[in-house]
This record gives sequence, C-alpha cells and structure tokens, in this order.
Amino acid sequence: MTFKHLILTTLVSIIAINTVNAQVVKVQAAPGNMKMAAQKAFPARNIPTADTTNIYNEMLNDETDDLMENHPAGDLYNDIWSSEKLNPYKVSINSLPDSIQIDCSDFTMPVSTGRVSSKFGPRRYRYHYGIDIALPSGNDVVSSFAGKIRVVDYEPGGYGNYVVVRHDNGLETVYAHLSAVTCKVNDRIKAGDKLGLSGNTGRSTGPHLHFETRYIGNAFNPSSLINFDSKQVYAHNYTLTKRKNFGYQQHKANTVQLAKYYKVRKGDNLSVIASRNGTTVNKLKKLNGFKSSKVKYGQRIKIR
Ligand SMILES: [Zn+2]
Repeated sequence: MTFKHLILTTLVSIIAINTVNAQVVKVQAAPGNMKMAAQKAFPARNIPTADTTNIYNEMLNDETDDLMENHPAGDLYNDIWSSEKLNPYKVSINSLPDSIQIDCSDFTMPVSTGRVSSKFGPRRYRYHYGIDIALPSGNDVVSSFAGKIRVVDYEPGGYGNYVVVRHDNGLETVYAHLSAVTCKVNDRIKAGDKLGLSGNTGRSTGPHLHFETRYIGNAFNPSSLINFDSKQVYAHNYTLTKRKNFGYQQHKANTVQLAKYYKVRKGDNLSVIASRNGTTVNKLKKLNGFKSSKVKYGQRIKIR
C-alpha cells in the first residue's frame, strides 16, 4: 500500500465514521418510540459529514426553526410540511412499525348529522380511500382531532373543495366536496373547530362529506377507528396495526395480476409454450393479437 493509498483509506474511514455519527445524533435528537418509527419509515437524510456537530448544535439552539413544535407530529413526518400535496411523504406500508398508539381522546364527529352512504374499499375503477357521509349542503364540517390545517385546495375533477388536517396524535384527516372552506393553511385548531360547510363540489353526484383517515400518507378505513352509528371512537388510546388497518393494501396488490412474458427459444412453437406455461394456444393468440400460430426465435410473448 502506497502512502497515497493510506491517506485515501484513512479519509474514507473518517467519512464513514462521521456518517454513522450523524445518524446516531439524529436518533438521539428524537427520542421515543414514535420517533424511532419515523426514523425507520424515512430513509436517512444526507447530512454533510464535515459540520455534523455544528449542525446539531444549531438545531438545538435554533428555537425559531423548531418544526417539531410548529407542525403537529413534525418529527414523525420527518419535518415535511407541504400545502401542495395530499401525500408528499411516499412512505410504503412495509416501512411502518407493526403497531402504533394513537391518542383519540379528543375525537369529535366531523359532521353532526348524515348517514354513511359509501364505505371504504374497492370501487369499480378506483379504490375508495375514505367513507362518504350523505348530508345536505351547508352543514358544519369540523375537525375530528386537534391539529393544524396543512392543505386547503380545490380539485374540480376529484375532491372539489377540500381540507387536510395534520393532527397532534400523528394522524391526518381529509374533508372533501365542501361547499365552503372557513379555515386557512397553518391555522391551529382544536377538535370540533369548524373547517367549512358540507357540499357537492368536485366529482360528486350528491351532497356528501368524503372523509379520510391517514397515517403518514397511508389511508386506512375510518370505520375501523370510528363507530359512525354511536359517533364515537372504538378506543381513546387506539392501536393502529399494520395487519388490521393496512392489510387491505396486500389484498389490493394480490387482486392486480402482474403481466408475465416469455422469450421464444429454439424449437418452440405456440402449443409448446402454452403447455409449458399452463395456458392455451388460443389464449396466447388473443393476448398477443396473433393471427397465426407462428412464433420467431427470440420473440417476446405475453403469457398473462
Ligand atoms: Zn368518497
């Protein structure tokens, strides 16, 4: 090993050690289970290695930029606060912890009247990520939990006028098709504070509230948390679990079959390929738009 190599190797080791230190510092700066969960859910951010200690000290000293204070569950959401998007987080279900405790003690029904007219689950062409409560336009729509208004937007072909609230308990809720919005982005609110009025804006065939419950961007069935008949949550300290609340994602994935292809080998013909892949010549012809049964060496054929 030359001297130059030795210097380079040493430098690389120092950088590696500093990178590890930077991650440890991040974890220490955010103690507690939920924060560890957030640490796992989001990939570690690229912290410049050279000034790690200074950056850490600045973070501790800078009270004006304390996002964890300013935005509900800011640490859990990796300080991401966007008024542009419903789900700016892109955290997959797989990276969520197996179970999460949610403080639902301040729960308030988003509307005081109406009945559930459409449930959470698959629809013909798209998944319904919330529940619909049919009620006349002009009724008060209130926040289910305390928090801060993150998004106020209008989507003509979808949600219409809608509001997204980030809650102190880590959840986010969506209120859509409103006829009027009476809150603005960054407003601090308590459970039961008015967000707007029920309506029929956007993709909607009659006045109703479309209501969603989400955890770091991932929707789960509001009916698993809220009993819409008794207008109460099932537990004040609710346990959200990957299996119970997000299991539907797996089911959804299983129902969408992935396409499969086959590359034609020497001596193959369509009936050989069909029997080898558990299908029929006719099915293959239809799937690939073939008029004849002839195949060429190296050709890519769709199996399903
Ligand atoms: Zn809906």
